[in-house]
Order: sequence, then structure tokens, then C-alpha cells
Amino acid sequence: MLSPRSHRIIEAFAEAVLDVPGGSLSHSVTSVRLAERVDEHLQSVSRDSRILFLIVLYSLEWLGPFYQLSGKFFSRMKLKRRRKLVDRWQRAHWSVRRMMRRYLEAIIVSNYYAVPEVAAQCGYTPKFKPPQSTPQLRADHVEFAPEGDRTEIVDVCIVGSGAGGAVAAHTLASQGYSVLILEEGSYFSHKDYGKDAITETRKMYRYGGMVHTVGYPAILTPVGRCVGGTTEINSGTCLRASDRLYDRWVREYGLANWSPDRMGKHYEEVERMLHVAPAAESHLGRNSHLFQEGAKKLGFTAEPLIRNAPNCQGSGVCAFGCPTNAKQSMALTYIPAALEAGARLYASTLVSHVDFRHGHATGVTAYFCDPQTGKRRGKLTVEAKIVILACGTFHTPVVLRRSGVPDPSRLIGRHLTLHPATKALALFPDEVRGWDEIPQGMVVHDLAAEGIVFEGIFTPPAYTATSFLLNGPAHREVMERYNHLACFGLMVSDTTSGRILRMPNGHALALYNLNKTDVRRFVRGISTLVDIFFAAGATKVFPGIHQLPVLTREQGSAPIYNTRIHAKDLELQAFHPLGTCRMGADPHESVLDPHCRLYGFDNLYVTDGSIFPTSLGVNPQLSIMAAAHKIAGYIGRECL
Ligand SMILES: Cc1cc2nc3c(=O)[nH]c(=O)nc-3n(C[C@H](O)[C@H](O)[C@H](O)COP(=O)(O)OP(=O)(O)OC[C@H]3O[C@@H](n4cnc5c(N)ncnc54)[C@H](O)[C@@H]3O)c2cc1C
Ligand code: SF4
Repeated sequence: MLSPRSHRIIEAFAEAVLDVPGGSLSHSVTSVRLAERVDEHLQSVSRDSRILFLIVLYSLEWLGPFYQLSGKFFSRMKLKRRRKLVDRWQRAHWSVRRMMRRYLEAIIVSNYYAVPEVAAQCGYTPKFKPPQSTPQLRADHVEFAPEGDRTEIVDVCIVGSGAGGAVAAHTLASQGYSVLILEEGSYFSHKDYGKDAITETRKMYRYGGMVHTVGYPAILTPVGRCVGGTTEINSGTCLRASDRLYDRWVREYGLANWSPDRMGKHYEEVERMLHVAPAAESHLGRNSHLFQEGAKKLGFTAEPLIRNAPNCQGSGVCAFGCPTNAKQSMALTYIPAALEAGARLYASTLVSHVDFRHGHATGVTAYFCDPQTGKRRGKLTVEAKIVILACGTFHTPVVLRRSGVPDPSRLIGRHLTLHPATKALALFPDEVRGWDEIPQGMVVHDLAAEGIVFEGIFTPPAYTATSFLLNGPAHREVMERYNHLACFGLMVSDTTSGRILRMPNGHALALYNLNKTDVRRFVRGISTLVDIFFAAGATKVFPGIHQLPVLTREQGSAPIYNTRIHAKDLELQAFHPLGTCRMGADPHESVLDPHCRLYGFDNLYVTDGSIFPTSLGVNPQLSIMAAAHKIAGYIGRECL
């Protein structure tokens, strides 16, 4: 719980950035109990993030007088002075002040615009269709909140129930093996979805969505923590990695068993299970079509994305749990199928470490945690013939480190790639209502050879509001025209390589400094986004570059090329962490062998996004699932 003084500083900051009440936004920061909402949000973030938030908040309070030559703390200053200060921090050349300001904004501003009445005043009024049929989880095979101490003896123990874990569980359970899935997060279904964006983020995202890399720039890297993992909160895009990429892995990493002709059948199997098909034209709206028009004028081709949402209603909230059950996430597909085939699942169960002796995993040690408080309430000891880690790219290396496994190549946690991404928003004279369609429905591949792919994105007001590098009335005026905004994103196949460290408290810390090649890719990509929006008729574009918060039609994209842009000037997120336990034929150059077994072990495998030796260049869920299908098939055939 924050102190009354902290609440005062939060409100003082919010008033300076938001300029409310004003215009058509009639709710003040106090009338929506903003400070209390922020306080609640902070309960779901990690302890480190909470401490960081307080450090930044009090830096603003105590350094404010120094920067404004004022005798008063920030929260006691007149509104005009406060606004001047947050504006200065926004434009500061010293990027740490900018980052501090952005950090506060990410939590405080998003919580204001998440209030349903405020969002409605922006024009955001979604109505969700009733859910389609829900597969029942076999009740006798799942425990949502286990407690007490116990021991389990199984053939296969799988840690993590996301893209990699769920597919492996189904594949092995279908072959008749006893499979136990352990998932740290809780179980949610359509009944829990359809609330405001912050409420959903707090429930389903790790640490309330507040996970950043450390480096230039600090990149927001959200991942799911719930049954189904990140597939519950992803956009449903399902693309195959290219044959060229698999050929390269065969050539450069000795992965002869990963040739394109061997991968085809695994992709086909997961595509069948997830009903993968192109996005229906009827649920692509003006956000997609405006971009398509603009792209066409510049000679590019925007086409519908291939997705796993056969009866999608275009309700626009894929990243917060699909309320209609259209998106074929793991909790709707592979998990129920695995349980039906005999697998069992413990939710709210955190695996602490893998137990092993002389290169042989004997099982895992895990703790049952209270779904609300996270407090431990029982210990689980699992004895297993095979252990599969599928905790995701950030957490599999951390579990390995916590377990103390030997690391002769010293590569566990290294070679992190992210597909860093950014987006541009654009104002149009007519209504766009970008939220009223599939948020990620279109793709432009024309610059893929340069490592740049453009994909649709649109977010509810809570997250749109944190995307502008604007303050005060300028910020409010754009949010009042939320329904006139279009948005599109781009992601870069990164040549940068980062690293995961295990912090003393056992958490993962990602270090990642964007290199110059990737900065150049962003400059090229963002200027193309800007050109496309102006070609489509936008009046203003917000490109997400600190020195250039807004561009007018007259300016076009020229200022982007005329400005020296560094990594720290970019506003980035990343949704596809990969590669921290990479596979390869050379044990000196890789963590896993070509069957994704940890070098030096006979029965410890990995089936998540961490296995890939390079960035994929496309959204990864389908490739992770195809890989998990392949690896689990091998384990079932050869190892049990
Ligand atoms: C907002 C967003 C949108 C995205 N959109 C797309 C998209 O449209 N298409 C696409 O292809 N990809 C998309 N992705 C990425 C994709 O969803 C992920 O790459 C994929 O789900 C990763 O699979 P995984 O098995 O590696 O990990 P996850 O799916 O993240 O699963 C890991 C699971 O392990 C659990 N876990 C971790 N540590 C432990 C532990 N110690 N004990 C027990 N359990 C543990 C976690 O709680 C989690 O549930 C998106 C990602 C995000 C964040
Ligand atoms: S747009 Fe997304 S959330 Fe809405 S119905 Fe389609 S898949 Fe579900």
C-alpha cells in the first residue's frame, strides 16, 4: 500500500500529463480514484518494479524543485510548473530522465484511460458477442489451486503450459505416457475476459505487464503467466518460418533433422489443430483498409494475416483474452486435448528447480502458490523419467540456473533475440474505430528481405494513451479523437543479441542494447510507416521517436532522415523473445543438442521459444508449436 504522500504525487503527475477534466473528458483524476487504481496495479507487479516506481516517483518529487528552481516539492507546485517539468523530462537529452517519466506514464496514464467511463468518452464502447462452445477441462485431471505437500511419480513432467509445453503434453499423453503439466499461473476462461485492459493485464501477464529489458532503449517485453501461457494473450497470428531459415540452420548449426521437408508435417499438424486460416475480410475494418490503401499507393502489398481464430468476431481484444473463445489458444485446444488423453495439470505451481544426478534429471521440485497472494502453501516433489522445460525464453534459462546444471558452453541465457517492435499512430479526418476489428489483421512483407515486417496493431485507450510522446492539452486533444486514430506496427528481425541473467531473488533480468544495424532498420521501417499513413490521407502521424513526437503532412517523413536517431530515442516493445538455450550440433556453440536435449544430460529437454538458434523473422507461436510437436514425437518414439 502506498502512502498518502505517494498518492498525492501520482495525482500531481497525472494532472500535469493528462489535462483532465477538459474538452469532452469530464472525469478528474480524483473522481476516478486514480491513485488507488495505480496502487492496486502495483500490487500485481514484481517487488523490483514496485521499488523502481517509488524511486522514480520520489525522484520527481525531490528533484523537481531543483530542475524548476522552485522552493516547492513537485506535488506542491502550481500545475503550470509541473507541466513544464514533465515536458522538460520528456524532451531531456539525458535519456534516463525521459525513461523515468515514461515509466510513471506507463502505469499512471494507462490506469486513467482504463476506467470504462473515461474510455467510453473517448468513443471506445466494445460489445462482445457471447462465447462459442467452451471445451470442458477434465475435472479429475486438473487442480487449479493445489495445496499441501505431495509427491508424484510420472513418465514425463512438463514445466509450463504455453505454446511449447501444451503441444508437448498432448503429443506424449496421446501416446499413452503419464504426463504431469506444472504451470505457475492461474487458469482463466472467457468468463474472466472482457473487462478493462488493465484488469486483464494484471491477471494474465507476468508482473502486471511491467517487464522491461535493461539497456538502450529499455524495451517493454510482456509475457503471459497463466494456463496456456502467452498464447492466451497473443494476437492469434500463425505464420510459418521460411524454408530459407531452416536451410540456414542445417548449414550453419548442423541441424540436419530440422530441414524444411522434415518440418512440413509438424506445421501441418498444429495448423489443423488450431484451424489456421486467413483473417476473414468481414472483420477487417478501416484501420486495416486505410493502411492497405496507403501501402498500395507506394507499391507495397498489404494482405490479410493467417490466424488461429476461425469464428473471430473482430472484437479487438485478443491481447487481453478472447471473450468469444474464437482464438484457439492452448487453454482451448491442446490443454483440454492433453487432459482428455490422460495428462494432468497443476496450476498455480511454481517449479523451483530440476533435480538431477550425474547428467540425469530425476524430477523437479515445485511449490504450490496462492493464486491471489503468491504465497507458498505446499511443496510438490515430482519423480519423472523425462523432464521437459517449456517456461518460455526468459524463464527456462533461469530455472536451469536455479537448478545448478553444468553449463560447459557458458551459453545458457545468451543469444537472446526479441523481434523488437514499434508502432506509429495517425490521425485521420474521418472516423477509423480501429478497436472495432481484428487488431492484427494485415501484414506487409515487402521489406522482409531488409529484416522489417509490418503488422497491424490496435489497442484500447489505456495503452494507446501511453504511446504519444505528448503532454497536457496536446495529449488530451489526441485522446479525444481516439476514434479517428489509425495504428500500425513493425517488427525487426534483430541482429542484436541480448542475455538473460538470474537475479539474486531468482527472477529473470534481460540485458539488451539495440545495435546500429537494427536502429537503421527501425529508421527505415518507421519512415515507411509514416509515408504509408500520409499516402492514405492522415493529417498527422505520431512516429514514436522522442525528438519527433508528431509529424504533419507538410513535413512528411523527411525529418526522420534529417535527425540523428539513436537507440535511446526509440519507443520499443517486444513480444517474441527467443534463443536463450539455443540448439545446435556443436556442444561448444549451443546449449541443446539437435533433439533439444540439454548437452550433458540424457533426459532433460526444452520445447519453448528459447531453442531457436536465430531470430525467426515471423511471429513465433506456430514454429514453437511445430518444434514442440517434433521434439515430443522424438521423445515418445526413442526415449521412453
Ligand atoms: C501481446 C503478445 C502478442 C503476441 N502475438 C503473437 C501472435 O499473434 N503470433 C505469434 O506467433 N506469437 C505472438 N506472440 C508471441 C507468442 O505468443 C509466444 O512467442 C509464445 O506463446 C511463446 O511460447 P513459449 O512456450 O515459449 O512460452 P509461453 O507461451 O510464454 O509459456 C511459458 C509458460 O511457462 C510458465 N512458467 C514460467 N516459469 C515457470 C516455472 N518456474 N514454473 C511453472 N511454470 C512456469 C509461464 O507462466 C507460462 O505460462 C505474442 C506475444 C505477446 C506478449
Ligand atoms: S478479434 Fe481477437 S479477441 Fe476478438 S473475437 Fe477475434 S480473436 Fe477473439
